[in-house]
Amino acid sequence: MKTHVKALVVGGGAVGTGIAYHLAKAGWDTMLLERDELTSGSTWHAAGLLPLFNMSYATTHIHKYSVDFYKTLEAETGLNAGFAVVGNLRMAQTDARMDEYMLYSSVAETADVYHEFLTPAQIKERWPLVRTEDLKGALFHPQDGYINPADVTQAMAKGARQRGVTIERKWQVDGYKWTGSEWIVSVTKMVEKGGNLVPGEETAEIRAEHVVTATGNHAQRTARLLGIKIPAIPVEHQYIVTEPDPALQAWRAAGNAEHPVLRDADAKWYVREERGGWILGPYERNAPARFLYDVPESFRADLFPLDLERIEEEYMSMIHRIPSSETVGLKDDFNGPICYTPDGNPLVGPAPGLRNMWLAEGFSFGITAAGGTGYYLAQMMTEGEAEIDMASLDPKRYGSWMTTEYAARKNEECYEHVFILHHPDEEREACRPLRTSPAYDRQKSRGAQFGQVNGWDRPNYYGPLDAAPDFDHNSRSFRRGGWWQYAVDEAKAIRETAGLIDATAFTKHLVRGPGATAFLDWFTCNALPKVGRINLTYALTPTGTTRTEYTIVRNGENDYYLVSAGAWTAYDADYLRKSAEDFMANGGGYLDIHDVTTQWGVFAIAGPKSRDILKEIVKDANPDTVLSNKRFPWLSARKIELGMCPVNAIRVAYTGELGWELHHPIEMQNYLFDLLIAAGEKHGMKLVGARAQNWLRQEKSYRAFGTELGRDATPMEAGLDRFIDLSKDFQGKQAMIDTGVRFKCVTVLIDGPADADPWGKEAIIVNGEKVGRLTSGGYSVAFGKQIGMGYVRPDLAEVGTKLQVRMFRELYDAVVTEDSPFDPTNARIRVDG
Ligand SMILES: Cc1cc2nc3c(=O)[nH]c(=O)nc-3n(C[C@H](O)[C@H](O)[C@H](O)COP(=O)(O)OP(=O)(O)OC[C@H]3O[C@@H](n4cnc5c(N)ncnc54)[C@H](O)[C@@H]3O)c2cc1C
Repeated sequence: MKTHVKALVVGGGAVGTGIAYHLAKAGWDTMLLERDELTSGSTWHAAGLLPLFNMSYATTHIHKYSVDFYKTLEAETGLNAGFAVVGNLRMAQTDARMDEYMLYSSVAETADVYHEFLTPAQIKERWPLVRTEDLKGALFHPQDGYINPADVTQAMAKGARQRGVTIERKWQVDGYKWTGSEWIVSVTKMVEKGGNLVPGEETAEIRAEHVVTATGNHAQRTARLLGIKIPAIPVEHQYIVTEPDPALQAWRAAGNAEHPVLRDADAKWYVREERGGWILGPYERNAPARFLYDVPESFRADLFPLDLERIEEEYMSMIHRIPSSETVGLKDDFNGPICYTPDGNPLVGPAPGLRNMWLAEGFSFGITAAGGTGYYLAQMMTEGEAEIDMASLDPKRYGSWMTTEYAARKNEECYEHVFILHHPDEEREACRPLRTSPAYDRQKSRGAQFGQVNGWDRPNYYGPLDAAPDFDHNSRSFRRGGWWQYAVDEAKAIRETAGLIDATAFTKHLVRGPGATAFLDWFTCNALPKVGRINLTYALTPTGTTRTEYTIVRNGENDYYLVSAGAWTAYDADYLRKSAEDFMANGGGYLDIHDVTTQWGVFAIAGPKSRDILKEIVKDANPDTVLSNKRFPWLSARKIELGMCPVNAIRVAYTGELGWELHHPIEMQNYLFDLLIAAGEKHGMKLVGARAQNWLRQEKSYRAFGTELGRDATPMEAGLDRFIDLSKDFQGKQAMIDTGVRFKCVTVLIDGPADADPWGKEAIIVNGEKVGRLTSGGYSVAFGKQIGMGYVRPDLAEVGTKLQVRMFRELYDAVVTEDSPFDPTNARIRVDG
């Protein structure tokens, strides 16, 4: 066995094999280790469906790559992977489901995924065995279908071997040690004993510059070996195979083509043909999580017993949809572990806190994702970044707060939701509330309706306390949910009087020490602020794209307070720490980093009355002037006292109004909340949630991380030139310049439909041609119409350019506005008083 390689892939399922193939294709010396046989994990019992349908931009790209790639494998390897390109028909029983498909259609259009819409009559005409009278229509992907999971894995393995990959079976990885430049990986030869696979006597050590773990259901063991947390825990998933259906056999005997994979999303199942019968795969309620801590030694290519009762409802609905299946008996069943994560996306990317350690864990559609994951992960590893932003899959989107119990319960919920309508405004209930700011109960008693971000419950909007009994706070929609009018009122309050937003979830770091200034100057692209001032700035990736957005407060010569997005604490912390370690290792001065996220609460007060409200409670020798432009100018930070609460106030407002962020000791939050509410009442202040804030920031063209800002666009492409100091050197600078401007971020006002706003997934069209995509969307109270932000070809970014945005398959006129269409001179933010 080789003992020194550039990259070691652990796990010989579809995913590990796809990664090994693509690393070798990129020219890396790669070895793959598998503790048993290739495909002996979840891969062996997968149904092999390759659905292109996915609501996420990154995952849609991954699935599309796989489907295209698998079609090329036979020519390359001579192995037929059994790709049946039968297409995929997703049926809709409700208008809401059709709305979902139309929103998906936007994602698909931006990623160039071909699809069609069919009417019930068209379905009936093509596939008469399918009952259609209660359908509204369907989404049809003619280019996907299903594949043999073992064969496609073997084909990728052969392709990998042809490109020089060594594949070693029956070797288990038992330990990882980082030397500072490479991993020493301890491995044990596995042997058969009494039908079990157990560690034998033979051991070895392999040195690898990079390691990728793709260990499927063994992710918890991998997490323990690495000393990290990985929220990948499997859930039971079953499918059943029927005896041949005579009606189906007759239909095929008449020369008709195989049925596409059928999905009755509202009935929560997929069905496909199998040897004259049907395979039914339900996503039922109450499927339990399994292997919370380990896969038992006795569980190899094994299955759990079928639980037919649990899937009775879905079984009956298959019979309803395909009446000929009623009299057909069951032939076979599969109930296997299918790995999940709390949000259903796999965990792909650098492992938290570790160097050159890459995770590819938690795949629930691993056969569909294997090729694309290999392609994009290999790009990240060999070129520094992938061509699409992979942040939504990054393993660090969960922080150290995440536990086994959380992952297990959330993964069960996620499984159950596979076919539940994927409303963009959906908030799932499991494991909540978990992380709350102290004012949670006070907010709740005032009508707060919470959403969860990074485990935190934070108000999305404040609903009516005296709501009619039938008012449904959860009324979600692909158009405008029940919350919409409340968000409108909150947005108006900020523009007209004042609003108070809980921003406690913000990520906060202290960076201090003799090396702090030199480090941050190199780490971020804007000039550092003077003491007492703040700056908006960006940390870039080495390839010049945006890694993190920071508000930097300079408290002292070498003393900084960094604020970044609440959703990305571990993700931001990891990059900050690793970059600082590199800086110090390269001779930079010493610096200290502290994550103080949970020590400081944040309230953002904004609106024309915000100064008057604060004046009521600020304690100062001269309370009339302490918040004036002279003593507290825009973009500065001051220590003030509000009643008895010491507050680090920052004069910024993400909503684009006069305002302050009030960073306060978390233990004084309730005291401060009561004080602000009492003072605000007189001035008509409203409590405001995240949804109104998201609309308001678009009126100011404030980019958000995860939407406009990510690792697929440079800050120059994001139009942030005024926050880039080209006179200094900083990480990623040359790469950013060399990249040029491939596309440009714009804000658009849209004359949209009367009942819906864009969600930031829609394609931007000119003369029928796709020229870009929205990354954010919403409703502008100031302009009384829809607003969005997104990327277009640079020649179409000029103010006044007429575009169109496709929503619900219709084109709506849109126009590129100047940056910050609302109050472009920032007069309202700078107002004195
Ligand atoms: C009933 C069922 C139906 C499914 N249908 C579909 C479908 O239609 N389409 C689809 O896309 N997905 C489907 N899936 C999901 C799919 O099976 C998985 O997502 C996919 O197989 C995951 O592949 P993987 O390579 O990540 O994991 P696995 O296939 O489980 O591979 C992981 C491998 O790592 C090895 N390993 C673990 N630890 C070590 C170690 N320490 N040292 C060495 N080797 C190690 C294991 O032995 C294993 O072979 C289905 C799943 C189930 C249960």
